Amino acid sequence: MAKRSKTGLGRRDFLKGAALATAASGAGLVSAGTGASPALAAVAGPLSRAADLPKPAGQRVIVVGGGWSGLTMAKYLKKNNPKFDVVMIEPNATFFSCPLSNLWLDNVIDTDLLLHSYTDAAKAGGYIWLQGMLVQLDREKRRAFTTAGYIDYDYIVLSPGIDYNYASLGVKDPGEAARLAQTYPAGFKPGSEHLSIKAKLDDFEEGVFLLNVPTGNYRCLPGPYERACMIASYFKAEGIKGKVVLLDPNEKPTIKADGFLAAFKELHKGYIDYQTAATITGVDVAGKTVETEFGKVKFADAAIYPRVRAARLIEDLGLADPKSPQLEGKIDNFRYTVPGDDHTYIAGDARPMPFSKSGNTANTEAHIVSRMIAARAQGKDSPWESPNTICYSMVDGEGKQSIMVDAKYKFTKGKGWGFTDVKLIEKWSKKLGKANIEWGKGLYRDMFS
Ligand SMILES: Cc1cc2nc3c(=O)[nH]c(=O)nc-3n(C[C@H](O)[C@H](O)[C@H](O)COP(=O)(O)OP(=O)(O)OC[C@H]3O[C@@H](n4cnc5c(N)ncnc54)[C@H](O)[C@@H]3O)c2cc1C
Repeated sequence: MAKRSKTGLGRRDFLKGAALATAASGAGLVSAGTGASPALAAVAGPLSRAADLPKPAGQRVIVVGGGWSGLTMAKYLKKNNPKFDVVMIEPNATFFSCPLSNLWLDNVIDTDLLLHSYTDAAKAGGYIWLQGMLVQLDREKRRAFTTAGYIDYDYIVLSPGIDYNYASLGVKDPGEAARLAQTYPAGFKPGSEHLSIKAKLDDFEEGVFLLNVPTGNYRCLPGPYERACMIASYFKAEGIKGKVVLLDPNEKPTIKADGFLAAFKELHKGYIDYQTAATITGVDVAGKTVETEFGKVKFADAAIYPRVRAARLIEDLGLADPKSPQLEGKIDNFRYTVPGDDHTYIAGDARPMPFSKSGNTANTEAHIVSRMIAARAQGKDSPWESPNTICYSMVDGEGKQSIMVDAKYKFTKGKGWGFTDVKLIEKWSKKLGKANIEWGKGLYRDMFS
C-alpha cells in the first residue's frame, strides 16, 4: 500500500494534486488561498512556499540526493567555484554506506564505519543540507519543488540513485512487490534494508539463505558474489548449518569471475551453491520459494535483488529515456546535461552510460561534473574525462582477504562504451583486504571532511 501523508493523501496523489493545480492556474503552481480547494491548498503547502534557506550569496546550485554522487558533487561544486551557493537535498537523516556493508554483515568492520553525519558533511563542505525530497521541477522558471518548500536555482544536479523493478522477477502486483520488498529486501539501497539483512543473519539457524544476481546493468556488479562469500564466512565462523544458494542468470560471475569462482571452490566449499543460467521468474513470498526456468528453489531466508532502474524521480520529472530498459536519464553523455537544457544535470547510478554502477564511479564522476559546472558558470568549459571504477571485493572474512579491479571507460564510434586501462587482481590477499578497508576510509574522508 502507498505511504500516506498526514493529509491522508499519498505521494502520487500529492503530485497529481500539484499537476491539477498547475493546470488550473495556467502558469506555475497554485499556492494556498489562490482558488484551490481547501484540501488541495493544504496539500500544496510545501509546494507554495519558499524553503527556509538563507538568501543565496552567489549562483545557487541544487544537488538532489546525498549519496556517493551527491555528497561529492556538493562538496566539489563549492571547492571548484567558491562563489556557488550549494544546497543538497536528501531525505535520510543519516548516511549509511552500501560499499563495505557486505564486510559488516560478517562483522569484519563496525557499524560506525558505515554511518556518517549529513550535518557535519555540509558544515565541512561549506554547503547547506536540506532534509527533504525533490518532487517536481519547473525547468523554465528554474524552480525546484521539494517537501521542504520550493527553491529557485541556477543549476540543478540530479543524483537520486536507483529504484527496484520487481516486475523483472515476475512479481507484477504492486501489493505483492511491496510485501516481497519488506520480507526479503535486496539490500542494494542505503540503510534500512541492510539492517534487516543483518538481523536475518543474527537469527539464522539452518538451511538455505538465498541470494541472486539480477539481469541488466545492476548496482555493484561484484556485490552479490561478495555478499555470498561474506555470508558463507559468517556461517562458518558461527558454526551455523547454513548454505548460501546464489542464483545467477549468467554463465559465470559478471566481473572478477576467476577470483570469485576460485573463492567459492577453495574457501567456501559446502557453504556456497552457485547455480548459473538461473533467472528468477516468480517468487512465492509466503511459501519461501522462487521459481526459475529450471524449477523451484526453497529457502529458509533470503535477500532477493530485482533488476534496477533509475530512481523513479527521473521518470516522474519526464527526464527518463523511454528507450532505456532501466529508464535512466536522457543526457548528453559527455556534458551530463539534459537535451536543450544546460542547467539540468544527471549523474551517479541514474546516468544512462553503461558504466559500472559503483560508488567509486559516482565519486570520480562527480569530481569531473562539478568541474564542468563550475567552469560553465564562468563562461568556460572543462573537458570530459573518464570516471574511474576501483572496486575491491572481500572473499574471505576470516582472513580479511580481497580481490580487486581498476578500470576506466572509452567511447569508440560504432562500438559504443567499453572498458579501458583495466587492472585486475583475482588472487586474494591480506594486502588487498587492508587496501579494501583503506579505500572506503579514503572515500568517506573525500565526501565528509
Ligand atoms: C551492498 C553494496 C555493496 C557495494 N559495494 C561497493 C563497492 O565495494 N565499491 C563501490 O564503488 N561501490 C559499491 N556499491 C555501489 C554504490 O553504493 C553505488 O553505486 C553508489 O551508492 C551510487 O551512488 P549514487 O549517489 O548514484 O546513489 P546513492 O548512493 O544510492 O544515493 C542516492 C541518494 O538520493 C536520494 N534520493 C532519492 N530520491 C530523492 C529525491 N526525490 N529527492 C532527494 N533525494 C533523493 C536517496 O535517499 C539517496 O541517499 C555497493 C552497493 C551495495 C548496495
